[in-house]
Amino acid sequence: MKKSKQSGRRLIWPDTAGILFPRRCPVCHEVVEDRGQPVCVICRTKLVGITKNFCQKCGKPLLTEEQEYCMDCLRKKHWFDKGRAAFVYDETMRRSIAMYKYNGRKEYAAFYAEEILRKCAKEILIWGGDILIPIPIHPSRRRKRGFNQAELLARRLSEKSGILMDSRLLLRTKRTHTQKDLSSQERLANLKDAFFIRKGKFPYKNIILVDDIYTTGSTVDAAARILKENGAHKVYFLCICVGKGY
Ligand SMILES: [Zn+2]
Ligand SMILES: [Zn+2]
Repeated sequence: MKKSKQSGRRLIWPDTAGILFPRRCPVCHEVVEDRGQPVCVICRTKLVGITKNFCQKCGKPLLTEEQEYCMDCLRKKHWFDKGRAAFVYDETMRRSIAMYKYNGRKEYAAFYAEEILRKCAKEILIWGGDILIPIPIHPSRRRKRGFNQAELLARRLSEKSGILMDSRLLLRTKRTHTQKDLSSQERLANLKDAFFIRKGKFPYKNIILVDDIYTTGSTVDAAARILKENGAHKVYFLCICVGKGY
């Protein structure tokens, strides 16, 4: 009885096939011509997915199969254990994520989640994460933007994968400056004590952090550090995009 009720609900919500509300393409931002598809056939060819030759630590694409790690991971030790992303962070994805974050295209989260699960399925199975935790943003930024882009992505990932999400354990203490114009050292200083853990018994061992973009890894590292200092054994991450590793 319970089962049929659940599957019935699934048929009408969410409208993943775009039958009721046609989906916008996350690449050209127009209504997708091929109904039922999340992205135009032509636009899909413009996306650079990551499925092989990636850094075994952070998932950045590499030039050759012989390389195991990117230059960044060879140079420095990370607090997180491993991470993966679906796409290379190029101009196409930069525009797509800007529309998602700042222009109300929240529907793109479903596409990003599908692509992450498709391209990173093997790693997600191996990691065996207990929980998905989105990188939090400061409440004032959340109020201004109306939502946390990482949390919505984590919610879609949770719905599609069955891995639970917790957006209440890890919190942001201070409003950090925009990271993109800072050096690696400045980013670390900027993020020092940026996160805190809600008080109480620490409930998870294997955590998968969720964020939109991975560049230097300083944000994921700062979050992984505090999670490990509070009792997490392993901390992984999943992102929509990652910068190049060469
Ligand atoms: Zn398109
Ligand atoms: Zn790397």
